[in-house]
Amino acid sequence: MPNRPLNLPRRVQLADALNLPVFEKGWVWLTGAGPGDPGLITALGIHAIQNADVILYDALINETLLTLARPGAELVFAGKRAGVKSCKQSDISRTLVSLAKKGKRVLRLKGGDPFVFGRGGEEALALTRGGVPFRVVPGVTSGIGGLAYAGIPVTHRDTNHAVTFVTGHGADGKLPKLDWTALGKSSPTIVLFMARKHAGEIAAKLIAAGRRAQEPAAIVSDATTGRQNVVVTTLARLGEAAAASSAPAIIVIGENVKLREGLDWIGAMAGRVLEPHPLGRDDLSDAI
Ligand code: SAH
Repeated sequence: MPNRPLNLPRRVQLADALNLPVFEKGWVWLTGAGPGDPGLITALGIHAIQNADVILYDALINETLLTLARPGAELVFAGKRAGVKSCKQSDISRTLVSLAKKGKRVLRLKGGDPFVFGRGGEEALALTRGGVPFRVVPGVTSGIGGLAYAGIPVTHRDTNHAVTFVTGHGADGKLPKLDWTALGKSSPTIVLFMARKHAGEIAAKLIAAGRRAQEPAAIVSDATTGRQNVVVTTLARLGEAAAASSAPAIIVIGENVKLREGLDWIGAMAGRVLEPHPLGRDDLSDAI
């Protein structure tokens, strides 16, 4: 491609260069921090951290990001983890409203994307009800970015024309009441959040719905962090493999998992030889 010279002014400040909005007093910014690698936060997310008076942050965010906060900014842990006694959702929502009403610039920093299984909607509704103005800053969800760091494209035209995001953990802690048979029949790739505990049960329901017991599945834990671990398995063995650890994990079921053999770019940095045709030679990837 020809290299067209761009006549752009050189500015140093991120906010000026990208024309980012001012973080006004009395506002709450509900912001996604990305899945773990601090480099995966958005420019708007960094801007929010740099300008907030108070930051309420989740358990799954990379705390390195907090080093960007203004000196004197108040940092409040407001995390939730499976099985660990932690902050109540209603307390978090109430705190957000009351801090904003005191005229603070309040940053609510959540793992991944705030509106993907992150209760961002509940917190935002509490702000609406409390008459507090807010902005939503999306983030890279672990359900997409985590898979990308495992070398698994969330969609690929040779393997899946659709993907479904599912939580393995309903509001009551049990498996959510979904039509698993319909899901198994209709969605070629299924991405599960918070599903370690019920992975075996889910796999059994999918096999009963007609999915192959040998269908590939992967468990990506601590995705995009230095501790990232990827276990490739089959639907039949998924439950057992998922029970082997308690680190936060994304589980993906579908033929797209095979692409990791050709796309594990992190493995390649450590010397793994990538397979140029992970799906065999009849794939479409060379087609225009
Ligand atoms: N809003 C978040 C999801 C919150 S629910 C997002 O968009 O990513 C919490 C669940 O997300 C975890 O139980 C796990 O299933 C998944 N998760 C979050 N961060 C993860 C990470 N770094 N690696 C693997 N899974 C992660």
